[in-house]
Amino acid sequence: MSFLPLTRIEASGCWDAFLPTVGQYAARRSFVEPCHPHVSRLSAALRHRLLTEDQVIRDTLSRFRFAEAEKWLQEVCWRRYWKGWLELRPQVWTNWRERVQVLRETLPPKILERAEAVAAGESGVACMDLFARELIETGYLHNHARMWWASFWIHAEGLPWELGADFFFRHLLDADPASNTLSWRWVAGLQTRGKTYLVRLSNLETYGRATLLRAPGGSERIADGAVKPTFQKEWADTTKHSLPALPASPPPSTGRAGLWLHADDLAPEVGPLAGFTPQTVAAFTSDRTYRERYRLGAKRIAALHTVLGDGTARAAAHYGCQATLSDADDTVSGIGAWAESHQLSEVVAFAPMVGPIGDLVPRLSKHLGARDIRLTLLRRSSDAHAFALANGGFFPFWEQMSRHLQTNSVP
Ligand SMILES: Cc1cc2nc3c(=O)[nH]c(=O)nc-3n(C[C@H](O)[C@H](O)[C@H](O)COP(=O)(O)OP(=O)(O)OC[C@H]3O[C@@H](n4cnc5c(N)ncnc54)[C@H](O)[C@@H]3O)c2cc1C
Repeated sequence: MSFLPLTRIEASGCWDAFLPTVGQYAARRSFVEPCHPHVSRLSAALRHRLLTEDQVIRDTLSRFRFAEAEKWLQEVCWRRYWKGWLELRPQVWTNWRERVQVLRETLPPKILERAEAVAAGESGVACMDLFARELIETGYLHNHARMWWASFWIHAEGLPWELGADFFFRHLLDADPASNTLSWRWVAGLQTRGKTYLVRLSNLETYGRATLLRAPGGSERIADGAVKPTFQKEWADTTKHSLPALPASPPPSTGRAGLWLHADDLAPEVGPLAGFTPQTVAAFTSDRTYRERYRLGAKRIAALHTVLGDGTARAAAHYGCQATLSDADDTVSGIGAWAESHQLSEVVAFAPMVGPIGDLVPRLSKHLGARDIRLTLLRRSSDAHAFALANGGFFPFWEQMSRHLQTNSVP
């Protein structure tokens, strides 16, 4: 098994082992220790929905009283909050991708060289360099380490947050367009206006002692008070849009329907698609796009293959039909060719979220429409509910969400 569970069976095993410890999560979760015993490491499984948040929340509430598990539930819901926030403001993602490109093409070579050195673990601040190498080697960093490292990059090194976020996006196995982009914006002071996260040595001494003891060199650069907030220009338009209304379950099929499985939701057998009867299922990797457009690291690409392979195999077993995973240079043409070869009149999928997969939807709709094939996208009702609440800050969101979790059954 990889350091993070990447199949539903592995994730379920990991969750079964972690669940009994949820009552201690609030007190222990901030400590960064080797092998990360105080956190779940379920992030890649949740990001790709090998395991759904709904299941995690339901299991938690069937074992613990709400108050005993509140911190844990809050963190699980942070992910949905970020997802919803970005679904309501998709242009923030587009703007970040454009800025990454512009910065790579226009920044002076000296700055780009420094950014590369810091990302390679050669900044000279030994604990930060250990974190950079841990990320590249394992595809994971503890939340606290992500905050320290992002703050070091932005406020101590004075490097553009957009390129730091891109480095994370290329290597994290849980890389998520919403959690990653918006957490980086939060550390930079853009997400909550006037609130910048500054790394402090005393905080590492309390919570990251194990790393500091192994690598103390250069830590004077992050001494308390040494790191000052840098000014960040807001490039993105953060205007809120309304959430497109999507069905929560498939409408009655009028012909041959196929299921497109993608990496934003790999639990078709759980929820509204459980009783669906597709003629065929298909998932696609797109290695050229991963490498050339997003410059993803080899481990991240391998992880995408594993999670998609796992989802495809489960779908084949659940629906009792052929399910294929293929590599397509262009996913849209791949889906079109698959649908035509199976003479489908409809392609059904969970609605891709804002990010690389969501970016495919306008072109896919057109491509299938031109072939007289209907594209039906579904949104889980629990996502629709959570996303609609993500219209302001996290705490108003949590006030409503926590009330909802205490008074409603989770689907
Ligand atoms: C700069 C930065 C970048 C980040 N990039 C990502 C990313 O690309 N993908 C990602 O999934 N998370 C990201 N996070 C959030 C968080 O660090 C990870 O979700 C968490 O560390 C995953 O480890 P875990 O599963 O062991 O967490 P646990 O502590 O066990 O938490 C359980 C689950 O709750 C959710 N969660 C916990 N903390 C957060 C948080 N702060 N924000 C959103 N969801 C949270 C995750 O789904 C996580 O798996 C980022 C945080 C920062 C500060």
